[in-house]
Formats: sequence, structure tokens, C-alpha cells
Amino acid sequence: MLPDTYTIPLIQLASGDRLSLQVYRFVGADPGKKVYIQANLHGAEIAGNAVIYQLMDFLKTLQNTELVGEVWLVPVCNPLGVNQRSHRFASGRYCVYEGKDWNRIFWDYEKTQEDLQEFAKTQINLDKDIIRINYLNKILNSFAKLAEKIHSPSSVTFTELFRHRLQSLSIDADYLIDLHTSTDRGLDYLYYFSRREPSAQYFLFDYGILLDDYDGDAFDEAFIKPWLALENTFQQLGREIIFDVEAWTLELGSGMQMLPQSVEKGVQGVKNYLLHKGVLATPKTKAIPQKMTFKLKSQIIKYYAPAGGMIQARVTLGSVVKAGEKLYQILMFNKTGELPYVIDICAEKDGLVYDVATNHAVNEGEYVLAVM
Ligand SMILES: [Zn+2]
Repeated sequence: MLPDTYTIPLIQLASGDRLSLQVYRFVGADPGKKVYIQANLHGAEIAGNAVIYQLMDFLKTLQNTELVGEVWLVPVCNPLGVNQRSHRFASGRYCVYEGKDWNRIFWDYEKTQEDLQEFAKTQINLDKDIIRINYLNKILNSFAKLAEKIHSPSSVTFTELFRHRLQSLSIDADYLIDLHTSTDRGLDYLYYFSRREPSAQYFLFDYGILLDDYDGDAFDEAFIKPWLALENTFQQLGREIIFDVEAWTLELGSGMQMLPQSVEKGVQGVKNYLLHKGVLATPKTKAIPQKMTFKLKSQIIKYYAPAGGMIQARVTLGSVVKAGEKLYQILMFNKTGELPYVIDICAEKDGLVYDVATNHAVNEGEYVLAVM
């Protein structure tokens, strides 16, 4: 089976050149769920591109009867971010136009809707699949209004244009998978949303972080928050519904690298998840969940340097630390005539060191490591 390919114009540059997105769409013989997978929204986070390449290599070997529904794949989904450099380092985490994090810019329907209670009341006795269609239509109608503004003479800012292009590809998906890595050096894990633990285990990761509080307007959040809000509203009205709509962010190792073991973990996880969801209908293979450790985002501690200097004797990535144990030292210099000296920084709580900074020179307040 070969994919349909689409080239989507993204933006025209001052020089007249155009940036574009390329979408690969594998369509099964039978209709079913839409899966949307993108990689490299943050410029330095390239590992997902290899995952998409390997998934395409695998999907190509299937008959179209072995795929139910559609899989949309968008590698290098943020050309401006991907190509950005500072010296030889990929620095494309922030949009240079407005200084915003590329993954905190997305349109969140939940923030604009005002009639959720009333809508839920009109749907309370309907079949779940019908409610899914009715609510999706509400979201799509609201989303379509954004296009009017884009095409008006006053138009919109670059980030609003960019987010609209990506969200118009993904907003009607059933399952959304956003492939990231650490900006620095990190373990493999995923971010998930409430009531989705059972599915999370099919990604075959050791760790999952529940997004129990939000930074706001991330790609996965903006996609699923309206659905979580509707589920919560139904719950208040006395009906338990969990829609088969899911959003995932996979964190696949370190920035500026495609670590083979992280790529492999991503590929195997996505394949097993698609098998679990019945999107892959390959005979002789069965999806098996893996027991994983769930953590809360609100419980994560990020450590920032309390003084400027050079990091040394830092615990290694993947270390389990106890409260009070030394995490790292700062070698501090001064301009006051004193000799340089070293201070110890210790863990506030027990946990797993899952992410560490690449740069060992820190200004005061700069990121050093994170513990889950
Ligand atoms: Zn990222």
C-alpha cells in the first residue's frame, strides 16, 4: 500500500520562497478511525522523523485490507523551527516572531465555548457515536470561523497562521500522536490525559506523566481538552461517557539526536497502540499492554541553578534519588577577590532523574535537571 501525498503551502517568505508541509496519508480498505501523527514541532526534537519514516516503511508492506481507517503522517511539521540555528545548535523551540513556545500556540475550543452545559443536556440521552459527531461539528464550525479572519484583509499573525494549518489537518482525528524529545537529554516516556491510562499502556513505555495541570495551548491539550470538558459535564449530569478520542505526546530521548533505542521504542509503541485500536488489522499479531509507572505533572520538580557557574558531579540521567541526596555541584567563580568554590545542590524529594540539561554552564535561574 502506498500513501497519498499532499503538499500543503505553509508560508511565503520575504524572498519569495515558500515553506510547505508534506502529508502522507495511508488509507485502509475499510473506513474507520483517523490517526494523526506529526514530528519535530520543536526544532531540535528530530527523533520522531525517524519514527515516521520507519512507520511508513512498515505501512508500505501492508495490504490495504490490513489497515482500517486512515493514518496521516507529517514529518518535519515545523520548517521554521527545524531549520533554526544558533552556531551549530538547533534552537527552534520558540517562534522568533512572537517569542512564543511553538507548542503553546494552539487554538483551544474549550476556551471559547460558552454553552457546554446546555449542549450536554440536549445530548444526554443520545448514543455516544452520535454525540461524537454532533460535538465535532460544533468544534469544526467554530474552527471554520478562524479561516474567515485569515482570509480577511487584516489577516492574522504568523503563529496563528501556522497553528491553523496544523490543526486543520488534525482537528477531526480520533487519535493524535505528537512526537517530541527532550530539548536537552531525556528518557523515553509519554504525556497522557485523564481517563486514558488503559490505552497508555499499549505504547510500551516505562513511564507516563498525567497532564493534571496545563501550561496551556499545547498541541495535544488543544485537541483533547474540549472532549475532556464534555466528559466532565456529562459526569456532573449523571452520565459516564469516555469518548474514543485520545491525544499523546511521546518524548523519545534527547534533542538534536535520533537515538536508535528511542526511535525503536517509538515505532514499537505506536504500532502496538494502532494494533490495540484495531487500526492495524494484521493477523497473527496481538496487542499486549505493558505495566507502566504513572506520575503526575504537578508533582514534577524542575531544578534551576540557584547561582551562576559550571555544573559538575551531576547524577546521571535515569538515576533514582532520595530526598537530601546530592544532585549536582556548581563550581562558582567571582569577581570579588575570593577563590572559586563549590556548592552542593540536593534533592527536595525522592524521584527519578528523567531529563538533564545539555549545557553544563549555567546562568543563575537556568535549567539543570528534572525529577519525576
Ligand atoms: Zn517538544
